[in-house]
Formats: sequence, structure tokens, C-alpha cells
Amino acid sequence: MVQHDRPLYRRVNTTAYGVHHGRGGDYSSSRGTDDRFDRGAMRGKRQRGLDYTPLFKFLLSRVGDDWDEVYRVAVRRLDREEPIYWLVARSISDRQPRVRIGESSYYSGLYVDQDNRLAVVDPSLRVEDMQPSCACCTHTFNGVTFTRKYEASKIGA
Ligand SMILES: [Zn+2]
Repeated sequence: MVQHDRPLYRRVNTTAYGVHHGRGGDYSSSRGTDDRFDRGAMRGKRQRGLDYTPLFKFLLSRVGDDWDEVYRVAVRRLDREEPIYWLVARSISDRQPRVRIGESSYYSGLYVDQDNRLAVVDPSLRVEDMQPSCACCTHTFNGVTFTRKYEASKIGA
């Protein structure tokens, strides 16, 4: 393969992070400032600035392959091995049908099966069945944009 040693991560513009609808945001340090300043302040709160999307796509493309080989290739093309285990469960209790990365990117949860092959925890999951959790983000599953639209939950009682 020609691109064998290309990294499985990429550097991202860190300003893309932290601008969301505020849930869970930490605004305490910028109290009393206007919105524009808030965003500027967030830039100072340095994220690591690495995007592991290429790794996740690589892992998904290797489902069914021998895990030792997949791992060996992946780890050589990463700065650290931890992101592998965001998708690949280390133990049975870690297995999840889907894994959320960042605000709105979902991927199939993976595991290593009895034959030491990379496998999908729940192969029946389909993007068509997934419901976005808000209207302001583009939700994706394995890189594919959700086909369903956000529905505001009905006001009960
Ligand atoms: Zn949102």
C-alpha cells in the first residue's frame, strides 16, 4: 500500500471546538464579557487539537481482519494508542453498540472476537434508525450524516 505510513489522525483548527449550545460549557472564567470575547477566551483553553477520524475509518474498514495485524499497523501510525480503545472494547463489559466521539459523531462499537478478529458489537445498527439529539449539530454515524431530522421532544403533561 502506498499510503501505508500516513498518520491515522490529523491536526484540526482548535477554534472549531467549544462553540456549541453551551451545555456543559465552562464560562466561569469569562464572566461579564460579551459573546465575542467568550469565543476568543475559549481559544486560550487549548484542546489537544487532534482528530482521529482517519483511525476510526481505518478500524471500520478492517472489521473481520486479524486483530494483531490491525493493531500493529494502527499503532505505528498513531501518536498514542489510547484512541484505538475509544472504539475497540478492551473487555466484554466495555462493549457498546455505538460510541460517541466529540459532540455528535457516532461510530460502531468494536471488539475482538474469539478468533482474534475485529468485529462489530451490533451489526444491526443503521444510520436510518438514529435520532439526532439536537438541531444545531450535524450528527454522523461512521461518517454518514443522519437521515432523520431532529424532533423536539413533545411537552409531556
Ligand atoms: Zn447541537
